[in-house]
Amino acid sequence: ATVDAGGLTIFDKIISKEIPSSIVYEDEKVLAFRDINPQAPVHVLVIPKLRDGLTQLGKAIPGHAEILGHLLYVARLVAEKEGILDGFRVVINNGPGACQSVYHLHLHVLGGRQMKWPPG
Ligand code: 5GP
Repeated sequence: ATVDAGGLTIFDKIISKEIPSSIVYEDEKVLAFRDINPQAPVHVLVIPKLRDGLTQLGKAIPGHAEILGHLLYVARLVAEKEGILDGFRVVINNGPGACQSVYHLHLHVLGGRQMKWPPG
């Protein structure tokens, strides 16, 4: 647990449900909802409800290991729920060089079409 000095992002309003979203999965620790600008037939974002300093993966410290593991497991639950276990991709964009646009850690879960590699 760390003090999070960063400002709020749009995801805080999604967590508080001030901004509506299409929720796919929710528990005490994480929320998974459909991306507003989907890049595949299935495009779900998985986020920690408590950002706790995790503006981006690069800020992770040992104390974040449990939530990081849970986020990845929830990505798998989402893939199962969406029927894409045969082929799905999990992406984390970290920083400007990777086109991160929202500074609250999130996993993209993508599938429902043939995914190309490398992604570009
Ligand atoms: P990033 O580029 O930071 O990896 O991904 C941020 C994602 O958040 C983008 O794919 C973008 O479409 C999505 N996004 C941004 N604002 C909203 C919103 O208000 N609602 C939803 N559902 N997704 C959003």
